Amino acid sequence: MANWLEAKVAENVAWNPTLCSVRVELPGFDFIAGQFVRLAVETDEGRMQRAYSLVNAPGDPRLDFLLTPVADGKVSPRLHALQAGDAIWVSQPATGFFTLSEVPDGKVLWLIGTGTGIGPYLSMLATAEPWLRFNRVVLVHGVRHAEDLVYSELIQRWRQQYPQQFHYQPVVTRQHVPGALSERLPQLIQQHKLQEAAGAHFDQDSQVMLCGNPDMIKDVRSELEQLGLQKNLRRTPGHITVEQYWN
Ligand SMILES: Cc1cc2nc3c(=O)[nH]c(=O)nc-3n(C[C@H](O)[C@H](O)[C@H](O)COP(=O)(O)OP(=O)(O)OC[C@H]3O[C@@H](n4cnc5c(N)ncnc54)[C@H](O)[C@@H]3O)c2cc1C
Repeated sequence: MANWLEAKVAENVAWNPTLCSVRVELPGFDFIAGQFVRLAVETDEGRMQRAYSLVNAPGDPRLDFLLTPVADGKVSPRLHALQAGDAIWVSQPATGFFTLSEVPDGKVLWLIGTGTGIGPYLSMLATAEPWLRFNRVVLVHGVRHAEDLVYSELIQRWRQQYPQQFHYQPVVTRQHVPGALSERLPQLIQQHKLQEAAGAHFDQDSQVMLCGNPDMIKDVRSELEQLGLQKNLRRTPGHITVEQYWN
């Protein structure tokens, strides 16, 4: 059963009006990159909790959560409004199977996320595992506006550290941004534009992780299945591992 750790918000950094990183000092909090915890806040209806992925690297004393306030949501607008010093509850232990240990070996690792769904990948990329296990690592971040392309300094460091092995591909659907693709992810895959930009294919040597928006996951999965890739399950290993943030 989960324990609840009472903590204080260390900082709340706004990337833009609807996207923020809430950071909580909890040294020694153990988890595997890709896992999530439940965060709880007090509301008029009592303490309420929701699942949030850990963005920080395992071992960091500060837990990092990338959040968007969902219109009419019960918990996320309250988390988004938290300030340094405010109380927050964090469930322990962290849980979830959206981790690289669940992903079979391959040559290319595709990490595809929309919106806050980039979070678990940032934690994974901060570990040695993807760089040791895959020849090529492609991080694809799908957003609506350029201002949603978060953690660019961190990503830039990996680009410099692994110039041959790493490709970062932003996809911005509502604005023209130099270096970004602008169509929806399923179309980009169908038209081979994503593969061309990333210098990699979707084939039997690929492992693809999908995180975030359920429609994106459904549609991208369908495109990938047409290319011969299959869902990765423990009993039947495949190529597509998913984490859906809502239904
Ligand atoms: C494993 C897991 C990890 C998650 N990690 C994150 C994370 O790192 N960052 C994050 O912001 N959210 C994350 N979520 C989503 C989060 O748990 C909440 O569902 C979200 O914050 C909305 O909660 P709420 O109480 O405000 O809305 P609710 O009152 O629960 O629901 C409002 C409605 O919004 C839908 N909804 C939920 N999230 C979104 C969204 N992002 N955009 C549009 N509609 C949505 C719900 O299906 C529901 O219909 C994760 C979910 C899961 C299952």
